[in-house]
Amino acid sequence: MILVTGGSGLVGKHLKDVLPDAVYISSKDFDLTDIDRVDAMMDYFRPKVVVHLAARVGGIMDNISYPVDYLEENVIMNTNVLKKCHEYNTDRVISVLSTCIYPDVVESYPMKEDELFNGPPPKDNFAYAMSKRCMATQIDSYVKQYGKDWSYLIPCNLYGEHDKYEEHHSHFVSALIKKIKEAKDSVEIWGTGKPLRQFMHAEDLARVIKYMIDNNIIDNFNVAPDYVHSIEEITKIGMESCGKGNLEITYDNTKPDGQYRKDVDSSKLLSVLNDFEFTSLEEGIRRVYDNFSERYN
Ligand code: NAP
Repeated sequence: MILVTGGSGLVGKHLKDVLPDAVYISSKDFDLTDIDRVDAMMDYFRPKVVVHLAARVGGIMDNISYPVDYLEENVIMNTNVLKKCHEYNTDRVISVLSTCIYPDVVESYPMKEDELFNGPPPKDNFAYAMSKRCMATQIDSYVKQYGKDWSYLIPCNLYGEHDKYEEHHSHFVSALIKKIKEAKDSVEIWGTGKPLRQFMHAEDLARVIKYMIDNNIIDNFNVAPDYVHSIEEITKIGMESCGKGNLEITYDNTKPDGQYRKDVDSSKLLSVLNDFEFTSLEEGIRRVYDNFSERYN
């Protein structure tokens, strides 16, 4: 059987849409920071495959305010899950890092998988990034020491119908869609609008995970569409896609820009996926906007 941690999150819910037969776990079922609960979960389900999505995840201000929580919760959760997957002989573990844990600055973009440790991560999410780099090292170590078929994916920023819209939690595109929906004349964005970003519909990541399980693909991959846009461009694309191209953009320069760019190269992944196409930003935003509008009304 396949067990998915973080089943109640953005990625978990999109994965459930494409892989309905797995078991999806939330923190209410098993708190993964408690090793006894992780043991109980593994003893009960005895999964052959674990997709480990659970993490403390949040926006830039939350990362700046609570670095201890990001570091400790993630390191403890990941250590508990991997330790118990080893003890219960889980054949496959697929885990998820993030492109925001790559070095803050490199000589050339897009970045490839082997550049992950080539410099310190951005200071604003340093603690989160180090917890994720630690998990990459843990998985690489289990592979080296015990010959495990375990691996990780490194996705770019995500959005999707299943995102949450609370201020402190929401991701940029979801927050943008809510702002566009509620806007009368203008949409305010944080910082200068200059940073460059890749954004992916979470269903695309879910389809990649399913493909890897179905086809027994065991390797570490970046997962991101090949387009990169400035935050300002994404805002314009968002407004156009939602039929509100007449809105004006305003800038809150008291808020941080975050990392300037972190785009990654997905050619390694695309060389093993047959005929895979990423959802375009226009189509993805339109889908999420329609879904949000339905719920909003
Ligand atoms: P999310 O929506 O914030 O969901 C987090 C999930 O982790 C929830 O199911 C949550 O359960 C669970 N969780 C948190 N603490 C837990 C604990 N102590 N015990 C058990 N479960 C716990 O996150 P997401 O956006 O789906 O992200 C999934 C993965 O993708 C994460 O590893 C994240 O780092 C990675 N990622 C996300 C993005 C993005 O833009 N969202 C980008 C790159 C990588 P509850 O619902 O019960 O709290």
